[in-house]
Amino acid sequence: MTRVYNFSAGPATLPEEVLKKAAGEMLDYQGSGMSVMELSHRGKEFTQIFDTAEATLREIMGIPNNYKVLFLQGGASMQFTAIPLNLMTKNKKADYVHTGQWTKKAIAEAKKFGIVNVVASSEDNNFTYIPELDPKTFSKDADYFYIVTNNTIYGTCCKSIPETGDVPIVADMSSNILSEPIDVKKFGVIFAGAQKNIGPAGLTIVIIREDLIGNAVENIPTLLNYKVQADNGSMANTPPCYSIYIAGLVFEWIKEKGGLVATKKINEEKAAILYDFLDQSKLFSSPVDKASRSLMNIPFVTGNDELDAKLIAEAAKKGFKTLKGHRTVGGMRASIYNAMPTQGVKALVELMKEFEAANG
Ligand SMILES: *Cc1c(COP(=O)(O)O)cnc(C)c1O
Repeated sequence: MTRVYNFSAGPATLPEEVLKKAAGEMLDYQGSGMSVMELSHRGKEFTQIFDTAEATLREIMGIPNNYKVLFLQGGASMQFTAIPLNLMTKNKKADYVHTGQWTKKAIAEAKKFGIVNVVASSEDNNFTYIPELDPKTFSKDADYFYIVTNNTIYGTCCKSIPETGDVPIVADMSSNILSEPIDVKKFGVIFAGAQKNIGPAGLTIVIIREDLIGNAVENIPTLLNYKVQADNGSMANTPPCYSIYIAGLVFEWIKEKGGLVATKKINEEKAAILYDFLDQSKLFSSPVDKASRSLMNIPFVTGNDELDAKLIAEAAKKGFKTLKGHRTVGGMRASIYNAMPTQGVKALVELMKEFEAANG
């Protein structure tokens, strides 16, 4: 068996320790004689898996007691719809910072239900930077203020959270949740699809301040209603059981490694290995504004499509997979989430050095 270095933006690489543990428990979960996939979601084994996963997530993220954690389905994209249906209900107005394709889709959904004020955009430069925000442009009567904290496709990341007063911040953290400590109190809602930094696709985590629950539009589809989900402990219907189980193992893995403080340190060191190389390279460069660089997704280019394709092909042969950039950006992208070992990034840089020597 050979494991490759998988730089996919998502579904993404998972910690080998977690996969091994799950493999070991595949046929018989802790003496139950069943795999986790076969357990009743209301039985005692799964109830314990579920409760432990939530408790560990609350512990590593420091989630205050007045926040609910929901384990939902539908992906991050379903939240583009759920957010306005649940929150855009008082003044029917929300502020959005437009930082790429994921906000474009979220804005399009929100516009179906109310007025969207785009307070800033980085579209003028293909979203290669996080725009400066001017609080004077914020709507005082917005029902919420929407940001994406890490733009997976472009490799940009918010380095600070805007001050919005009483307007709750809704943050799509799909690609940088659990990469570093955050102050949950600064947010009204945090959501993330699992398949980047949490676990398998199929699970979406929503962390929501309790006072924001129960304000949905009247005819909201039942399962999109945060109140229904919260009142039923995320079990209004069958939850994504196996994804929750793997996510729980990932939370434990993070906790055992020293939590999010230790994780951030590793992530900074890991990203620096690649950025330092890119910044001195004569062949490769990062298209992203230095002040906005992501620790999780690192796009890079040679400026020559043929050379890009050659690098991607040579890398794939040597076991460095899924390095092709997003189709709207081109070039390469290395997604180096928590589960990507430092050694994987070091080895990638070695490969790029050799490539530069041969093709530079
Ligand atoms: C991947 C991603 C999404 C879309 O996630 P789905 O689970 O496929 O709906 C949304 N936002 C961000 C920031 C992402 O990285």
